[in-house]
Amino acid sequence: MSNVCEKFLRYVSVDTQSDPQSTTTPSSSKQLNLARMLEKELNEMGASNVKLDKYGYVYAEIPTNVPEKNLPVIGFVAHMDTSPDASGKDIKYRIIENYDCSDIVLNSEKNIVMKTSDFSSLLDHKGKTLIVTDGTTLLGADDKAGVAEIMQMAENLLSSDSERPTVKIAFTPDEEVGSGTDHFDVEGFGAALAYTVDGGALGSLAFENFNAATATVEINGIGIHPGSAKNKMLNSQEVAFEFHSMLPAFEKPEHTDGYEGFYHLNNITGAMERTFMTYIIRDHDRDIFEKRKAYIKNVADYLNKKYPSAPINLTVEDSYYNMKEVLNDHMEIVDTMKEAMANVGVEPIVTPIRGGTDGARLSFMGLPCPNICTGGYNCHGPFEYAVVESMKKTVEILMETVKLYSK
Ligand SMILES: [Zn+2]
Repeated sequence: MSNVCEKFLRYVSVDTQSDPQSTTTPSSSKQLNLARMLEKELNEMGASNVKLDKYGYVYAEIPTNVPEKNLPVIGFVAHMDTSPDASGKDIKYRIIENYDCSDIVLNSEKNIVMKTSDFSSLLDHKGKTLIVTDGTTLLGADDKAGVAEIMQMAENLLSSDSERPTVKIAFTPDEEVGSGTDHFDVEGFGAALAYTVDGGALGSLAFENFNAATATVEINGIGIHPGSAKNKMLNSQEVAFEFHSMLPAFEKPEHTDGYEGFYHLNNITGAMERTFMTYIIRDHDRDIFEKRKAYIKNVADYLNKKYPSAPINLTVEDSYYNMKEVLNDHMEIVDTMKEAMANVGVEPIVTPIRGGTDGARLSFMGLPCPNICTGGYNCHGPFEYAVVESMKKTVEILMETVKLYSK
């Protein structure tokens, strides 16, 4: 038996960085070290049907103690990997008790300071207990805080006689490299609904994310010696500039927030003969998203008519969709979470995600799945920190959610 903080510190000591270059699942075999640890702990605490599958997914079940009530089966999901953006190896965390809202020197030798002027969320945690890094690695609260909270909930449920529905648990690999749900066994999981515990600030609750597509633009020029190029050369880079200039100037990530979508030039490489560009296209609104894709196709068509060699090959591929489309028909899942938060004194903070989530993919795979808080902040870098009181409160939210589904 250990508390949520001890569990968290145990899990962050295991390096589980995922690898975007890999073609295997899990993308890095070191994720299995944490998977095995969780499998063992789940067995030790008495969870049922504990399984570590060949893809590195850990599944477990806490059976209902009132089968006659036919309660819905509910699920909780968190991811085990940490971001490739920063090292997750040999994490040297530090615990700051009774935080006084001053700047935090993470590493005096390297002069790495987490300033409240840069990270104003720190000011919300006066008197709380913070877990920070030594400024050279990430912390891994994303998403080991979620893992620890679900594990704590499981342990609490298994030592309680309170009525509960069957609760399913899943820990996934490779969320940070975009393939956390590729091998998720939704049918085997067998839940009617689930929550990913992978958000940030205490109270955050998200059930809307972007619709997302990637556009790949290949432009073929016509090469001629520059000295004799008049009326003959087609410089693919000039066409690329023209293409880009036809996209709306202010509909870019750096000019948008909230529900505003964008086109983002992610990558451009080229020479006179050939230029490649990739754009990501994002919008919360499905109709506007479809119009954005149609618009970029129109731009390609227009330039292909303008230049007789039709130099542009455009492919547009959808990546994921806004889970609200699915959750619109299941808003009681969101409402129950709001109620659970309110019941334990946490005000729900509902914000649209300007990105994707595993829950979005799961929702479209048949498992409606909003995302909730973990109490971790500044993810993916050395300024990541976790608030112990928020982690404990999140466990309370999970317990209360289970209770609400017991009625
Ligand atoms: Zn995460």
